[in-house]
Amino acid sequence: MSETDPHIHVEQKVMQAGVDYRNLVVSILGKPIDPPSVVTTGCGVRVPYAMTSQRPESVTCLACRDHAHREHLRLADQLEQMSRMPGTAVPPDRAARAAQRLRNLAQRFSS
Ligand SMILES: [Zn+2]
Repeated sequence: MSETDPHIHVEQKVMQAGVDYRNLVVSILGKPIDPPSVVTTGCGVRVPYAMTSQRPESVTCLACRDHAHREHLRLADQLEQMSRMPGTAVPPDRAARAAQRLRNLAQRFSS
């Protein structure tokens, strides 16, 4: 972690950083989870949570943008697979909408 690092990064675990994920956890566990104070980024450094963003337009670290692009696409696929499993807690229509949002986000990280 460097105090001279001017870049805004993304959390390595992009899904856990997302509002959708937090809402999902709240609906499953019935309680919210707090954001951590220091996080590992997509480019592998540790920075204060405040130096990360989930808004593609705010992320200035190129390695993190690449990471987030790939991760969002991968998670969209994973989410759709999960929603097709028997007994899943994720309804397919909700999963499809969430997957679409993830792909839109991925697109914004690549541009
Ligand atoms: Zn980064």
